[in-house]
Amino acid sequence: MSQPPISFEFFPPKTAEGTEKLRITRRQLAQFKPEYCSVTFGAGGTTQDGTLNAVLDIQSEGLAAAPHLSCIGSSRASVADILQRYRDNGIRHIVALRGDIPSGMVDVGEFRYANELVAFIREQHGDWFQIEVAAYPEYHPQAQSAEADLRAFVNKVNAGADSAITQYFFNADAYFRFVDEVTARGVKIPVVPGIMPIQNFSQLARFSDMCGAEIPRWLKLRLQSFGDDSASIRALGLDFITELCDRLMQQGVPGLHFYTLNAAGAVSTICQRLGR
Ligand code: FAD
Repeated sequence: MSQPPISFEFFPPKTAEGTEKLRITRRQLAQFKPEYCSVTFGAGGTTQDGTLNAVLDIQSEGLAAAPHLSCIGSSRASVADILQRYRDNGIRHIVALRGDIPSGMVDVGEFRYANELVAFIREQHGDWFQIEVAAYPEYHPQAQSAEADLRAFVNKVNAGADSAITQYFFNADAYFRFVDEVTARGVKIPVVPGIMPIQNFSQLARFSDMCGAEIPRWLKLRLQSFGDDSASIRALGLDFITELCDRLMQQGVPGLHFYTLNAAGAVSTICQRLGR
């Protein structure tokens, strides 16, 4: 089986200790030769400097880096500033997002949806940036309907996205169905599965509720039944996620994007088990 490219996602650390820990994590993960590493962007621009600093750190280690950029609550001028800073630092790859609307936000700014950000990046910078967008195989939690969400995805692609990364999912069929649906609507760009290792059940359940990723009933019950036995949770999680990646690879996915949560352990084990 040919090995698709892999990429790793990190979040910008808030402390010097976190920055050092992330460097160690990256050193451990570099052996898997990621195509690039991406760094998330806090809602409303709260991690603007942290995102850029982490990306510059990654570049200085000789790895390709892609900052995320979310637009909700932002003006065109402030997004233009950030794009110029990215470009001035030689960055050519961006993950373009709307972002989550923080509770209580009254002024949503000059961008309402990610397709408007993608169009803005193309308008300002032509083909300078390779643009990734988000995809939701189990649909976005705020989608008006499945059809409306598929249309929204197609709009982002038509606005100029080069490829997409999915929200994590535990149901491979949802991913394949999504790819079929968007292909039938004319989408030709790669849709790379986002992979979330399973490490801590309550945290995973909370995240999954918020982002609309369904944990299959049998898996939820099994994980729940381990209670505080974190070793068993991790062991089942590693088996399950490795099998999921295997199945995705067997069907020829264009890549795997790992949500590392800034830790190398589980992702390294999965990569080793996949023969990377
Ligand atoms: P959009 O594509 O704009 O979609 C948002 C919602 O609006 C969907 O329900 C869609 O159906 C609907 N919609 C779109 N267009 C229209 C329209 N014209 N009319 C009506 N409805 C419409 N968040 C961060 O804050 N920082 C990050 O770094 C970050 N990284 C992420 C990386 C990945 C790979 C993924 C999958 C998500 C990430 N997120 C991040 C979360 C993301 O910001 C949220 O899921 C957000 O709520 C939606 O962003 P989007 O870019 O998918 O939005």
